[in-house]
Amino acid sequence: MSTSALIESTVALLRQARDKHGDRLIYPCALGSEGMVQIDLICKQVPGIRMMTLDTGRLPQATYELMQEVREHYGIDLEIMFPDQDEVEAMVRKHGVNLFYHSVENRKLCCGIRKVHPLKRALTGMEAWITGRRRDQAENRAVVQPVENDPVFGLMKYNPMLDWTESDIWTYIREHDVPYNRLHDEHYVSIGCECCTRAITAGEDPRAGRWWWESEDTLAECGLHVSSLHAGEGESGEGI
Ligand code: SF4
Repeated sequence: MSTSALIESTVALLRQARDKHGDRLIYPCALGSEGMVQIDLICKQVPGIRMMTLDTGRLPQATYELMQEVREHYGIDLEIMFPDQDEVEAMVRKHGVNLFYHSVENRKLCCGIRKVHPLKRALTGMEAWITGRRRDQAENRAVVQPVENDPVFGLMKYNPMLDWTESDIWTYIREHDVPYNRLHDEHYVSIGCECCTRAITAGEDPRAGRWWWESEDTLAECGLHVSSLHAGEGESGEGI
């Protein structure tokens, strides 16, 4: 699909979602490359959609710089959600600050408290949410539809970026001078918390840069987008 056709279909779906759900629609964005394209399209062509991101407390400085740049470049109040202080303190007291390296259970606990719980708070009272998911990011995303029922959160879920490829994303970013995380220029593909993200080498799967110390089986898909999961169980929160 040409870039202009991709833009057209993404904007059409964003408009459809905004016109149907109004202020009960939200876009939780992790400020990844596809997220920045979608923010650009929303700000320029589909204003009126609420946008938020999560500050887990463990993000790279480059991501905080991008958050600030988004505010200034687009003149928007990007909503920022934080984890519950009591939950973080109790977790760290019991398991230590770097608990995620010790077991998959600990990593899921940390992602649950730092990402999933704040996201659930952000989605409370909403009718629908928007994602930046792409078909080419994981094998089991090939069956994802542009509009879905999300049984995890009990909302409608819109996936306007499904047909974009990595190459389409970067073509758009360069042509439209879109702000992006400078870590992408240092071979980081998927950027999350600083302690759980690394650069990848040529030929490595892009997902190899996240939670690299775990086996591939446990990383097959991030929890927030696995529709069979029950809310609060085994969710990593990586998809936002
Ligand atoms: S990515 Fe790492 S630090 Fe961030 S919430 Fe998940 S386990 Fe915790």
